[in-house]
Amino acid sequence: MKTIITATSVMITLVLVSLVLMSSGPDTLPVAGLIDEAHAAEPTTISPVKALENREVYYPGTEDLAPDEMRVTACGTGMPNARPKQAAACWLVELGNGDKFLFDIGTGSAERLSALKIPYNFIDKVFIGHLHSDHFGDLDALWVGGVVGNRVVPLKVWGPSSIEPKYGTKVAIDHMEKMLAWDVDSRMGNTDTRGLFIEVTEFDYRGVNQVIYEENGVTIRTIPAIHIFDGPVSFILEWNGLKFAYSSDTFPNKWWMEHAVGMDLAIHESFITPEALVEKQGFTPEAALNVGTQIHTSPAQFGKVMAATEPRMAVAYHFFNDWDTVPAILRDIRRTYDGPLALAVDYMVFNVTKEDIRVRMAVVDEDIWPQPSTIPLVPPDPALVRTELSQEMLDGRVVHRDILEEIYSEINEQFGSSAEVP
Ligand SMILES: [Zn+2]
Ligand SMILES: [Zn+2]
Repeated sequence: MKTIITATSVMITLVLVSLVLMSSGPDTLPVAGLIDEAHAAEPTTISPVKALENREVYYPGTEDLAPDEMRVTACGTGMPNARPKQAAACWLVELGNGDKFLFDIGTGSAERLSALKIPYNFIDKVFIGHLHSDHFGDLDALWVGGVVGNRVVPLKVWGPSSIEPKYGTKVAIDHMEKMLAWDVDSRMGNTDTRGLFIEVTEFDYRGVNQVIYEENGVTIRTIPAIHIFDGPVSFILEWNGLKFAYSSDTFPNKWWMEHAVGMDLAIHESFITPEALVEKQGFTPEAALNVGTQIHTSPAQFGKVMAATEPRMAVAYHFFNDWDTVPAILRDIRRTYDGPLALAVDYMVFNVTKEDIRVRMAVVDEDIWPQPSTIPLVPPDPALVRTELSQEMLDGRVVHRDILEEIYSEINEQFGSSAEVP
């Protein structure tokens, strides 16, 4: 928006200058009064052969994080149906002390995370706001895919309880592990599987400003969130005088209004408008109103929350951020809030310090490989061999021994190994 306004102003200025040029003679040109002095006075340092100093985008893996800096990356900002442009909810918080935290890991978000080129050993802490699949549907992908991608430390997961144990995080993850029994056991004994374990911390969803994590100067607290059914929570992270709050999903509530005041970065859901649900997705008006204003926070309600809690930067997420949805969302938010605002989309990056909040988009490479392990890999533990092919399957193998011997000898020669064809 800003760019458009600036570009338009420049165009208007140019038109005015041209009109004056056309109507006045060269001797009488009042040029100084018409040119934007601030811009005219800036000498350019742009060189025909040097890289630009300000590329205005973030290339993952190319920037240090300052000791006092927080970088927050949107790895999922959309709705339950992940789509090419937007995965479901997921936010990565990276701190200058080296810590990294994931808040939610919704459907499709593991792919976004891979694009950031961070070694998986560093992404071992996940905080789940509630157990809708659009908020933890890619936990399996991060858990197992992370191990294949060289994570050799267990994954640590924090998530809320609910009204019954069967609705809590512990049971959900226990069942996820059961669902993945074939996957996990088939890898045991074949690779370094030290990362194929999950440590779950389930906390009381009713805790108000409850500390659930305190380490290395970082404190993470929870407050209850109101969303369909008891269990959801929102998170508040504090480190080095910087405060970050993430709603996950919630209707506006008194706990956020009290405890998420004056955040540096406040990420809160702002759902798609009811009319878009009717027009684009075929909802009945009644269903659209229920989902868009009762189960979730509508854009105008989001604005109310932000106007009352005054963050340095308000971030709206949980809607399809398109050219034809943004005008109505922005109109509704601006009905109630006129402060700093970002309408999130995947790969939006926030660099937060006490002095500045810089918002950019990441430019990602599609040809991504997992980074090498930051901890030396160990050979597979033979004690963990749990699966072997049955004789029936072994007898079905068609072994091209000559080909295998060629491949083994080529690789041994290239890398100095001495593996033998089994
Ligand atoms: Zn939800
Ligand atoms: Zn959601």
